[in-house]
Amino acid sequence: MEPGKEKVSIAATPAARWALAGGLALWTAIGFTPFGRPLPLPADAPAGEFSAGRAMVTVRAIAQRPHPVGSADHDRVRDYVLGEFRRLGLTPETQAGTGVFRRYTGKVENIVARLPGTASTRPVMLAAHYDSTRRGPGAGDDAHGVAVLLETLRALGQSPRLRNDVIFLVTDGEEAGLLGAALFMSGHPWRGEPGVVLNFEARGTGGAATMFETSQNNAWLVRALRTAVPAANATSFAYEVYRRMPNDTDLSVFKRDGLAGMNFAFIEHPEWYHRPQDDPGHLDLRSVQEQGRYALALTREFGARDLNQPPSGDAVYFPTLVTGLIVYSTAWVQPLAWFTAAALLAAAAAGWRRRVRGFWLVLVFLVPAILQLLIAKAAPGATYLLEWPLAGAAISCAVWMTAPPVIGGGWRLAVLMLTPGSSLLLLTPMFHTLIVALGPREGGIIVAVAALWMLITVSPQLKLVA
Ligand SMILES: [Zn+2]
Repeated sequence: MEPGKEKVSIAATPAARWALAGGLALWTAIGFTPFGRPLPLPADAPAGEFSAGRAMVTVRAIAQRPHPVGSADHDRVRDYVLGEFRRLGLTPETQAGTGVFRRYTGKVENIVARLPGTASTRPVMLAAHYDSTRRGPGAGDDAHGVAVLLETLRALGQSPRLRNDVIFLVTDGEEAGLLGAALFMSGHPWRGEPGVVLNFEARGTGGAATMFETSQNNAWLVRALRTAVPAANATSFAYEVYRRMPNDTDLSVFKRDGLAGMNFAFIEHPEWYHRPQDDPGHLDLRSVQEQGRYALALTREFGARDLNQPPSGDAVYFPTLVTGLIVYSTAWVQPLAWFTAAALLAAAAAGWRRRVRGFWLVLVFLVPAILQLLIAKAAPGATYLLEWPLAGAAISCAVWMTAPPVIGGGWRLAVLMLTPGSSLLLLTPMFHTLIVALGPREGGIIVAVAALWMLITVSPQLKLVA
């Protein structure tokens, strides 16, 4: 046979098929391995640290009953929070007035307090809302957020003063249409000052706390997050999804008016969101600990920086099991997309020239390769989910075509499928987040579709006949 014209048998042998199935199962299992989560620290933890045990005292005090705007319990919570700020050595003030946001309007009363720094550039602002809906006591949404602010303030008091001021903004009327945040941004004298806002929210009662939203030009924010909280849970994919959804939090108002910021929440048990079950008993203490870790570590990080004129530019970011947060500039998204598309095209051309049967399989990869070029323009923060698997596919195509003929076609097929299979490490955390966010019923459909896809992939019918 002429060199380069050998006919390669590429029907998967049973051994290769089992290797493929086992490999995919392994990658999936590793991909679904949850990220390590901190244990909640008890109430007698060292004073300089954030303790979920101590924060829960505040949560239980606030979330006894529903406390929507206009209720007696609302005023009780307001007075309690004011008292806590005074107990921790600050002089809180209230800002009462009418908040207006889009078609919503109403009377609200914010609570603000300021911890002075030594030589402030611009303040760091921590924000959470103290009102709840009528339907639940709001332990997660958002008593825990207020507790995070107060416990952070207490812990800050145990270390030397920060360079920057820290503003604590406990908003009112979030559930009534972001009214407190709107009132702050329309009328409060400090509204334009914050160099960065950290907002704490919940859409459920547990699960991993995630940094799910940033303002534009987020590269410096995300890099600070990686420095301050190495095991941070944050993906630019979540941000791309979130900014296309109609959901709003107070951060929407701060961002609209030009402040930089990040938003933190946990979303497990969405079926208890705005329900009686959103009570202190159902609240996951680890989630509170994680929120507190973000708040305290980032306040110390931003509190020490010059917050004037932050650098511009957006970032792609995602966590992996074996590294801290991966962060790189979105400037890399387009070149990488073109590079992987070109590499796959080259592989297809080489396969066609060498008459490798099944070279057309490369064309299967070209569909997502074209897709990534479109996504790279529209949603750069999400493109990594296609780019890195396709880079894996380009490598496996090269291996497939250059492997010596003694290696059976079935094994080549396994390599071809498995190298991009490692990208399940990037994809499965996304599936997991999606399943948790959707709840058991809709989440189950996604699991079923994924299982079906796996079955098709390893089916005995899978042959690469030209
Ligand atoms: Zn809320």
